[in-house]
Amino acid sequence: MASREDIHRLIHRPFTGKQVLSLFLDMSVNSDNKRTHGVFLSKQKGRFSELDSDREGHHREALGAAFSRVEQWLEERFEEANKGIALYAEIGSDWMEGYQVAVPLQNRLEIAERPIIGPLAEVVESHPLYGVAIVDRTSLWLLTLRSGQVQSEQRLAAESHPAPHEVQASGSSHEEYQNRKEQERRNFFKEAVRELEEFDRRHRPEYLIVLGTEENVKLFTSDLGPSVQEKLVYTAAGPGEARAAEVVERLLPFFGRRKQEKETRALEQLHDRVRQRHFAAAGVQQTLEQLQEGKVDTLVLARDLRNAGGQCQQCGFFLSRHDGACPYCGGEIRDGVDIAEVMIRMAEEQEIPVEFVSQQALADMNGAGALLKFQPHSGLG
Ligand SMILES: [Zn+2]
Repeated sequence: MASREDIHRLIHRPFTGKQVLSLFLDMSVNSDNKRTHGVFLSKQKGRFSELDSDREGHHREALGAAFSRVEQWLEERFEEANKGIALYAEIGSDWMEGYQVAVPLQNRLEIAERPIIGPLAEVVESHPLYGVAIVDRTSLWLLTLRSGQVQSEQRLAAESHPAPHEVQASGSSHEEYQNRKEQERRNFFKEAVRELEEFDRRHRPEYLIVLGTEENVKLFTSDLGPSVQEKLVYTAAGPGEARAAEVVERLLPFFGRRKQEKETRALEQLHDRVRQRHFAAAGVQQTLEQLQEGKVDTLVLARDLRNAGGQCQQCGFFLSRHDGACPYCGGEIRDGVDIAEVMIRMAEEQEIPVEFVSQQALADMNGAGALLKFQPHSGLG
């Protein structure tokens, strides 16, 4: 699975002079229970005539060697529980990175100077990192989850207690026994809260979920400090003894609901603001412009947006449309730039949240809009 740190690392990977092959694959099975990425891959290889003279095992072409490494990676590393793959391989060197994700990615192959990060950024942005705490009187189990995949797992257990018969033997009453049990629980929860806070600092989940009996959840969460408390988005009856996969299974409907709600909220807010001409950008050109001026607060993009534009060779400005020369400096423009990729890259660099929404929902803005930090000077269009 990928994280924001991975995206940033890929963005800031310096150009080595060699091109990078970026490959995204849908690894889900079809109705015949088969994966079809092999068909896509061979079709893509067919696009490169230089591979005709290339031979397996004795690559004359660096591209052929890169494809071999990719295929080998898929064969050796792919885990069947995943549905999407993002692979990066530098052509002419050994550099390679692969990510497996729980959601299918649209098949796509690109060769460019830099790794294409759009599809991976979409997964990371649309599937936040959740921290899950499963608590009972004597144990705390902590998980981090992203898009239904367990990223990390740790446990804390209370020190063992004397068995009830020993308590009876020492002559204490039932009430004393109950009080002592209660004290033990409170002591353990104090320790568990410290553990959760440390976990939060280390993994930095965006949201937290606490599972357990109603009473345990109430007691445990009331001890949480404000920084952790404000990340708490969901509590529910605990799974008791369960495997991580069962916990994930139980939480999937909640994750789906949250994702849908977040998307709907972003769209409503954008449409409201555009209507009121208040701190909003609409359309690819205006959004791109505001993004380059560092004025965007939240970027809203249609999934799998494909929009070709250009970049000024003199001042570096990106343009989704132009009439031959740069409107800012008159410089020459290089066409064929993937504008969606450019926008996602800029948003990630500026650490701006990106909301990915359905193409249909944003068709009125040609697939791009933004909530702004400032009121733009130009009119909306
Ligand atoms: Zn220019």
